[in-house]
Amino acid sequence: MSETKSDVLLEVKNLHKAFDKHVVLNDVNTTVRKGDVIAIIGPSGCGKSTFLRSLNMLEMPTGGHVLFHGTDLTDKSVNINQIREKIGMVFQHFNLFPNMTIRENICLAPVKLKLMTKEEASKKADELLERVGLKDKADTYPAMLSGGQKQRVAIARALAMNPEVMLFDEPTSALDPEMVGEVLTIIKELAQSGMTMLIVTHEMGFAKEVSNRCMFFSDGNITEENAPKEFFENPQSPRLKEFLSKVL
Ligand code: ADP
Ligand code: MG
Repeated sequence: MSETKSDVLLEVKNLHKAFDKHVVLNDVNTTVRKGDVIAIIGPSGCGKSTFLRSLNMLEMPTGGHVLFHGTDLTDKSVNINQIREKIGMVFQHFNLFPNMTIRENICLAPVKLKLMTKEEASKKADELLERVGLKDKADTYPAMLSGGQKQRVAIARALAMNPEVMLFDEPTSALDPEMVGEVLTIIKELAQSGMTMLIVTHEMGFAKEVSNRCMFFSDGNITEENAPKEFFENPQSPRLKEFLSKVL
């Protein structure tokens, strides 16, 4: 299939981010196409979270551009809240509202932003909870759920906005080992359904299985990128070789 302009979702151009004098991202360039499942891998502190957060301006770049469907998000006149509706994000710590039921957590944003009526959002919440295997938890509170269940709710909540792309920042790093699998399964199903996603992860088997592109971050940039098989079986740079020898 030939590529068309409309396949391109995100373009990252010369992205630069510094906190005071500390340069974290230095001239990052990449293009994300519809259906891409991108695993972002790299040592702690190398800028993976900063990169993800720069894609929806949770971190304001100090240089360069991020284009979403051709719209430059670094342009101050862009309504970034509207764009964020289309870019779902799931964090390491689930960030659910403890005083709201699971259904209320999922319905909050779509109703508040007037994207859906309460009834529509509630119906959507039920569908999503079924999808993440938590249909019976709609009326309970986050405190009653395990970490794995909370993360599945956080994924359902992000999906309630009908995003075009999902950003996952180490979605299983805060979980007890026995709960990692259930969350990865949901993310894998989402990938197989065609959702475009970028996933920062330390789960190498999962990255290899689920992604179509693997990026290695180091020294403030994507220093190596390849298809998963090549990435893991035939790393090129000494840095990636060394990193993989430690984590595999
Ligand atoms: P990773 O996700 O790869 O572990 P981060 O993107 O969280 O790395 O952080 C990259 C670097 O940027 C680290 O040195 C971190 O201390 C620094 N950093 C991240 N966020 C901030 C911030 N808000 N203020 C100052 N420094 C930050
Ligand atoms: Mg991080």
